[in-house]
Amino acid sequence: MAAKILLVEDSDTQLKFLKEGLVQKGFEVETATNGAEGYKKVFEFLPDLVVSDILMPVIDGYQLCRMIKNVDETKKIPVILLTVLDKKIDSFWGKKAGAQLFLSKSIDLNELAKNINATVRRYPVSEEYKAAMLQKNNNDNSAQTRLNTILNDLLLKSVFANEFRNLSDFLNYERILVEKLFSLLSSFVEYHVAGIFFASPDDFAENIVYLDTLGRNLPKSVLSDIQYDFFRKMEEYRPLKNSKFEVVRMLLGNELDYKFTDLTSKIIIPLIFDKKLIGGICFYTRQDMDYASFRYFDIMISELLAIFKMKYQYTEKEFMSVLDGLTGLYNRRQFEISLEQEHNRTKRHPSDFSLAILDIDFFKKVNDTHGHQYGDYVLRTVADLMKTAFRKTDLLYRYGGEELVMIMPETNIEGAVIPVQRLRRMVEEYDFNYNGVKTKVTVSIGLTMNYPEFNTPADILKSADDALYKAKESGRNRVVLYEQQ
Ligand code: GH3
Ligand code: MG
Ligand code: MG
Repeated sequence: MAAKILLVEDSDTQLKFLKEGLVQKGFEVETATNGAEGYKKVFEFLPDLVVSDILMPVIDGYQLCRMIKNVDETKKIPVILLTVLDKKIDSFWGKKAGAQLFLSKSIDLNELAKNINATVRRYPVSEEYKAAMLQKNNNDNSAQTRLNTILNDLLLKSVFANEFRNLSDFLNYERILVEKLFSLLSSFVEYHVAGIFFASPDDFAENIVYLDTLGRNLPKSVLSDIQYDFFRKMEEYRPLKNSKFEVVRMLLGNELDYKFTDLTSKIIIPLIFDKKLIGGICFYTRQDMDYASFRYFDIMISELLAIFKMKYQYTEKEFMSVLDGLTGLYNRRQFEISLEQEHNRTKRHPSDFSLAILDIDFFKKVNDTHGHQYGDYVLRTVADLMKTAFRKTDLLYRYGGEELVMIMPETNIEGAVIPVQRLRRMVEEYDFNYNGVKTKVTVSIGLTMNYPEFNTPADILKSADDALYKAKESGRNRVVLYEQQ
């Protein structure tokens, strides 16, 4: 009896040529012009062998092969893939997909027929097997169901990949990036709490795990237990200091009454690139994790890795350079170096220096009302005002997002308060105007100096930070001086 060959090929001319050739060689041939049609015909035509092209739209030859090989009722049907590209790569993927043989598309018909005969002899498909396959499909229409699932998967995968790629616009807006990531993740992973962490190349940077509780108000203890749990895992890859958590998307309201131990199922995934920890994500749920919600896990991880990698490289570039790109001020690393130098110098040769930290008031609102480009403009403008308010010898830095710092060498706190107040007033009086959109902005400033009570640069910095906190607390738009103990 003639062997039944199902030929799958998207090019009409190729298909016609191959079909005529194989019919002449005595095979019974059925054809399909794409992977989906091919898969359905496997169940209708019950072939002894499938010969498929690899490059086809939507469902390609590899996928078709995998679909045939993945289930018991069809996996015994041998598959030959026809390749045009680099045979090595094709045969690598083809083997993964379970194909029996790879042949070049330019093979002559005699050779092809010989190979088909050999494969059919080697992998015979019994009539009972075919009958069972037909029966199964008649019972539950499994071919169509499986096909729909795969087509949906493919569509979703490309949609997800696209969504992830759009996030690259927000690489330097960590908070926005985090919110967008959470809204994406929550659309296809079921969780009660999820966390995102971007590792910084800076060993002294704060390490924040952003948590999403899907709007639920959870007890602080649960969140800090998650923080601990998460960073303990991260620390297997790299020591991290100064860790904390921040909750995004948590609404106020009644605090839910549940404990960390209620989150019985968890998954913590460190993201590693080039042997470096570049970040991590975690999901905690109260019931057992539903694996159906992890159908797109692979694609999610690979897309996340791409985003985290870009963000890490961006931060690394900023970190390694001397100047901050947005404001033209020295960056945080330079600040840390200078503060240490000033501290050591004045310990050796006693003299004064002052330190001020400025934070823009209600800056989130500026971003929310006018967009982050406008926020960037405000930040740049405040930095420019700062440059005009201080002496050439004073050192100006962008410390963090919208926090700017000033080191004033050879200046005590009474001397420093003059330019600092001048700057505060200049900002208050400035008419911000970007593309015709006007606004007013104020800043709060904490000021300190190298009092003898401080032993380390970190002590000095903390005292400025405390003063800044008081400035915020007591009404903003003001300068608060650290009070010596
Ligand atoms: P507060 O008066 O208490 O300081 O209120 P705030 O809204 O300024 O609060 P906070 O200092 O915590 O918020 C800082 C915000 O600044 C968060 C972040 O979205 C935004 N931000 C940080 N860096 C940048 C940046 O480079 N560009 C823009 N546009 N926004 C930034
Ligand atoms: Mg701030
Ligand atoms: Mg602020």
